[in-house]
Amino acid sequence: MLFEKITGHIHPKRVLSKAVESGEPFHSYLFWGPEGVGKKSLALRFAQALACPNRIDGCGCNSCKEAELGIHPDIHLILPQGESLKISGTRALIELSSLHPLKSPFVVNILEEADRLTPEAANSILKLLEEPPPAVVNILITSRPHFLPPTVLSRCLPISFGFLKMEEIKDELQKVKAGEIGTISRIAGGRIGEALHWAKPENWKRRLKYLSTGFQLAAGNVSLSQVDNLFKEKDKNGVMDFLKVLLSLWRDLSLVSLGLEEVANLDQFKNIQSLSGERPAEEWVKGCFLIEEVLELSYTTVNMNMLITSLVINLSMKKLKERRDPFAA
Ligand SMILES: [Zn+2]
Repeated sequence: MLFEKITGHIHPKRVLSKAVESGEPFHSYLFWGPEGVGKKSLALRFAQALACPNRIDGCGCNSCKEAELGIHPDIHLILPQGESLKISGTRALIELSSLHPLKSPFVVNILEEADRLTPEAANSILKLLEEPPPAVVNILITSRPHFLPPTVLSRCLPISFGFLKMEEIKDELQKVKAGEIGTISRIAGGRIGEALHWAKPENWKRRLKYLSTGFQLAAGNVSLSQVDNLFKEKDKNGVMDFLKVLLSLWRDLSLVSLGLEEVANLDQFKNIQSLSGERPAEEWVKGCFLIEEVLELSYTTVNMNMLITSLVINLSMKKLKERRDPFAA
């Protein structure tokens, strides 16, 4: 089987290996499954193998080297433009597909975050997905297939991806000599992308900062100025990271308040244990749903300030109520 450098995902690797070996891949694939589990990595390896004259991903030939450097002329990676994949991006895709392969047996188009296709852009590529020119292979990648129109879904061969096992994540972290492997493999929740992200020292430092704000929020000690400080995080990826950290913290607080000790944030166990009794379990669980909802909305919303404000108010609600009680009496 090919794709030995990709961890886990045995079934997708088997299907794609057969497609490479037969020399007759399907014309359009939909790689779908949770974010950060390695869909794009496998798509790039698949493209590399399809482009390689020896039908191997990473055999050391010129084609494989170019694919690894991201400069292969027959492998096109299309990224979302801003918040959505607009028609100009898909027009480029159609134009590139009309060209004959320059060096290899196939032209491979990889469309990242395909759920961000605008309806017009989705319509413009229906024909390309259904009847592409000979030797063109399209790979659409998404973690939110329900956002894609049925007309797109029905034209692609779905390849589903699941979460990785914790041991697989640990092995990968060891390969990059990461620290805090125990905690990172747990907070990653089966997503290798998340694990490698938090293994970077600068991201680990940000996680600690977000956790500190999260603990203050959990304790109900959040002032307006602290909330304002959260909004200084203009970078959307930073806001999403904050939400992910908050969600993992709230999940841990829910678990510990239910008497379970299998927390993700192992390095924070003592703090989590001492805070978990501050609220009843159902309130922590309710908080998890609220954070998940905002995280889901954050994929499609440009302005996060309003969402975060309402989330912060909702999460500190119990404490606000307590403060209001004397006035109510
Ligand atoms: Zn090769």
